[in-house]
Amino acid sequence: MNPYHFVISLFKYLTKTYPKRLQLVPHTTVHSIDSPQSQHHPYTIHTSKGQITTTRIIHGTNAHVSHFVPSLRSRIVPVRLSLSAQRPGVQFLADLKPGTRSWCLYFSNTYSFLSQLPQHPNGWGEGELLFGGGESFATDGELAELGNLDESRVDPSVASYLSGALPVYFGASNWGAESTPLHRDQQNGHADHTSPSEVEPGRVKKTWAGIMGMSADAVPWVGKLSKKLTPRKIIPEGGGEWVSAGFSGEGMVHAWACGRALAMMVLGQEERGGEELPPEFLITEERVKKTGKLEQILEAYYDP
Ligand SMILES: Cc1cc2nc3c(=O)[nH]c(=O)nc-3n(C[C@H](O)[C@H](O)[C@H](O)COP(=O)(O)OP(=O)(O)OC[C@H]3O[C@@H](n4cnc5c(N)ncnc54)[C@H](O)[C@@H]3O)c2cc1C
Repeated sequence: MNPYHFVISLFKYLTKTYPKRLQLVPHTTVHSIDSPQSQHHPYTIHTSKGQITTTRIIHGTNAHVSHFVPSLRSRIVPVRLSLSAQRPGVQFLADLKPGTRSWCLYFSNTYSFLSQLPQHPNGWGEGELLFGGGESFATDGELAELGNLDESRVDPSVASYLSGALPVYFGASNWGAESTPLHRDQQNGHADHTSPSEVEPGRVKKTWAGIMGMSADAVPWVGKLSKKLTPRKIIPEGGGEWVSAGFSGEGMVHAWACGRALAMMVLGQEERGGEELPPEFLITEERVKKTGKLEQILEAYYDP
């Protein structure tokens, strides 16, 4: 399954089905949140596109959550992770059906992650390998990626590891010759592997960075913020603030059930999220007290 297509098609379905109840406002930054004054003067959210007033807020900003919820600082911290999209070698592509496997590749005390995009029979896609990790190779050391929110660049040493490691992990004969880029014949939609230029573009199509929200106890934090955990006033009668964040690199797995449990809490149907939510994920003042030490963050980072 292509995760991007999956998520986009869900949003398309939901915005079409519930046009009055669901609105997506992309490229909009929340600058600040004002405390509610009363039940009739709820939270005011100041954004780059204007103000919103609401009685309920859900913080779904993952690595950034502590910006508006300072009680979660040192409990959910950002980590920069790097990824690459690469053309598989000719032999690799011939031996394995694209999109059917994922790998964890261990090296020394670290691991990298790899999965392959599917390839459509009509030539869509090149069975690209999505290969990520390699923080331990960072120019200024692995620690430089912890607390790093700069997703505009990939560390050059990490990029060089990601770009070169795959044929080494799989072995030259399993990898085979480098593939040439795929070009679509605009006329008939067929694909071939000829290149119009004399200089072939390389194996790596793209490298980029993303920010992961790593939690001090390596599991997500989901639930309503008590009076002690938010700097803002609490409004009674169903209002308030909720959080679903700190997925620690596993949000594509956990976010679905966390979101549903959170919806039950917001609707007042399940105070603790119901059976779907493991109790370890619930935000409590006790959990906040137990976490936040530097050693815990380092342990979660070095030994997830
Ligand atoms: C390189 C990489 C590889 C990963 N691989 C996997 C994997 O294989 N499997 C898996 O399960 N998970 C993986 N993850 C983790 C997964 O991507 C996350 O857990 C998931 O995206 C979390 O979703 P989210 O919507 O909670 O947060 P995010 O996707 O992090 O989204 C949070 C959003 O909040 C926005 N935001 C923050 N502050 C503000 C503000 N003030 N105003 C407006 N918007 C704001 C941010 O811009 C961001 O778009 C990976 C993450 C990375 C970085």
